[in-house]
Amino acid sequence: MAEKKTLLILPGDGIGPEVMRETRRVIEWMGKRGRASFEITEDLVGGASIDARGVPITEETLAKARSADAVLFGAVGGPKWEKLGFHNRPEIAILRLRKELGLFANLRPAIVWEPLVGASTLKPDVVRGLNLVIVRESTGGIYFGEPRGIETLPSGEKRAFDTESYTTSEIERVGRVAFDLARKRQRRVCSVEKANVMQSGLFWRETISSLHEREFTDVELRHMYADNCAMQLVRNPQQFDVIVTSNIFGDLLSDLASMLTGSLGMLPSATLGQADASGRRPALYEPIHGSAPDIAGKGVANPLAQILSFAMLLRYSLNMDRDAGIIESACLNVLASGLRTADIMSPGTAKVGTSVMGEAILRELEKVAAQ
Ligand code: NAD
Repeated sequence: MAEKKTLLILPGDGIGPEVMRETRRVIEWMGKRGRASFEITEDLVGGASIDARGVPITEETLAKARSADAVLFGAVGGPKWEKLGFHNRPEIAILRLRKELGLFANLRPAIVWEPLVGASTLKPDVVRGLNLVIVRESTGGIYFGEPRGIETLPSGEKRAFDTESYTTSEIERVGRVAFDLARKRQRRVCSVEKANVMQSGLFWRETISSLHEREFTDVELRHMYADNCAMQLVRNPQQFDVIVTSNIFGDLLSDLASMLTGSLGMLPSATLGQADASGRRPALYEPIHGSAPDIAGKGVANPLAQILSFAMLLRYSLNMDRDAGIIESACLNVLASGLRTADIMSPGTAKVGTSVMGEAILRELEKVAAQ
């Protein structure tokens, strides 16, 4: 068996612990079948940490996150903690993890699973077989650039301003993540900006082109304006493999792309940091959905986004592509068999709860692994 990998598991609040329970069964299955060996630490985060320790995440938990091979995160937040001040809200835990681990590249796949093709608001022919990833720069750009503020002009009128700002190294490091990712997929990257009207867009385009020429000529690169990309994502999303873009454009385009799939409970994500000299890269994996307080405690949440987040962890942090594929195939087979949690129900399918869905996936794992 391969060397032990260390995982920090942070279930969080609401449905977080419910969907994480099913994911842990998948992780335990891998250990029992000798496919991998994990040293797992589980800890509190978000509202659960506020209740027990007074803060959304402790320094000790952050230290564990820094030393783990990867972090698997559930979801945080809920009405109970909404009245706390901004700096003590459960969501601060995610911001602190991103900052402390230097997580600058957010990866959001948008995959349409054949049995769920009818869940999209777009026509089946447009989305069938869709499988793209958006790589969003997530620690720079206009959300953080200086100067920013609201000022009063001599005339008495007010003026508000933010700054879109990127350095060569900020663009290159997220570009490298996108090109490396494309090498594991169809080797196609589309870089998105507004080079026609923004200096920072022109600089983004030139920097990505130069990086491509120097290091990634085996990957196909094309450039696209962000407004056109939004239109193309709805018109013909199949044309994309990997999209790389800035913080603000990635924010908008990744929400748009996730809705092409029509099901929040199915979508995983990853946020990656800088690899060190040994190639080890800090990384956090989480479903894109929140803590879903409206269904928490009812045993009806869809565990697939969390389980698929673990599959992403295997693929991108541990280079275990084959095992990631086994988990994804097991999920696909369960959907093809007609089992559905309430969020992805359609006529003619059978409604099941969180743990029955988890058990069905374990059964399929056995079958797929034996093939
Ligand atoms: P949400 O994603 O929690 O829920 C939106 C809707 O989707 C709800 O109707 C919910 O029941 C449903 N849903 C979400 N995940 C599901 C699943 N796995 N299975 C079945 N149905 C599912 O978003 P929200 O309601 O806007 O936010 C609720 C709380 O979660 C808030 O406190 C918010 O701040 C927090 N939040 C946390 C994260 C995170 O931890 N990364 C992300 C988004 C929202």
